[in-house]
Amino acid sequence: GDIERDTLIGAHELAAKLYHYLLMNTTHGQPALQYLRSRGVTDKQIDHYMIGYAPPEWDTLARFLEKREYNLALMEKGGLLIAKQDRSGYIDRFRDRVMFPIWNRDGKVIAMAGRMLGEGQPKYLNSPETMLFNKSRNLYNFHHARVSMRKSRRVVLFEGYMDVIKAWSAGVENGVASMGTALTDEHAAILGRNVEEAVLCYDGDNAGQAAALKTIPILERAGMRVQVAMLPKGMDPDEFIEQNGPQAFMRETIEHPVSATKFRLLYAKKNHILLEEEGQKDYLLEAVGIIAALDSPTEREFYLKELSREFDMSLDSLKQDAFERRQQLQ
Ligand code: ATP
Ligand code: MN
Ligand code: MN
Ligand code: MN
Repeated sequence: GDIERDTLIGAHELAAKLYHYLLMNTTHGQPALQYLRSRGVTDKQIDHYMIGYAPPEWDTLARFLEKREYNLALMEKGGLLIAKQDRSGYIDRFRDRVMFPIWNRDGKVIAMAGRMLGEGQPKYLNSPETMLFNKSRNLYNFHHARVSMRKSRRVVLFEGYMDVIKAWSAGVENGVASMGTALTDEHAAILGRNVEEAVLCYDGDNAGQAAALKTIPILERAGMRVQVAMLPKGMDPDEFIEQNGPQAFMRETIEHPVSATKFRLLYAKKNHILLEEEGQKDYLLEAVGIIAALDSPTEREFYLKELSREFDMSLDSLKQDAFERRQQLQ
């Protein structure tokens, strides 16, 4: 009920504060702090995102909550603790991890994500789905980003926590991320109530680009115009900002996204060997198919013209093909 929810939120708020304190003010937190600094995370970012550290002991949080007379069975249900195998008590879910509190829309901590210091699996451990935390509805940083989203009528979507945090310092105040799941229709509906435009800024690796491709129609169905900010091959926003600085990130990616159609065309292009005749024809036909699906005749003409220039094809033949493809669509 409501009492359980409030209690659990209180426990999450406390846990976030404890982890943050351990990171910033104790020797146990030093390696984690070193790790964050080595990745270019500043004190300002740590404060703003209340980043913390869960120490390696089995029961730091369990003892802390027990002392404050929290019902540990409820804490287990809420995902902060795990019941011991022999059911003799509870241990912490998060150990020896950098901790990122996850807020709901009202700015209350409702879940946690913990990242390993360095390499290893799983890299991130998230709270499970609980009475507070629904992965398909919650977006990381939504409560911070909302004001800026409404003002700019735009949201920037990232894949990860680090991307949101680094981009925020670079000046992207309207950035959010889904958490270990693909963007859902529910996420998109929530965003669609706040903005007109979504800029996808996913990782520049194959997984990220494939995810961007799948996310475009989800956002479009929720009524948003979609653009894609491209990153160099294999880089994610967090790495780009570390290597090239915040200004370059803004200038070269966020401020110059390509249209969803352009992105689809670029994505299709990568799968064809354009130096070969067959590859060129295959790409042309795939490209015409992408363009044929556009609702606006002006947009169709715009991209067909571009294609005709690029491959020195007559606009007439491309238009004819597009027309036939459109009829097949209907
Ligand atoms: P870092 O966040 O340290 O920069 P990264 O950029 O390599 O690492 P990705 O693998 O790109 O991280 O993951 C992006 C996002 O996907 C994470 O922020 C997290 O939300 C989610 N994620 C990644 N790995 C896992 C996992 N093992 N379990 C759940 N979620 C994960
Ligand atoms: Mn990735
Ligand atoms: Mn990444
Ligand atoms: Mn990263």
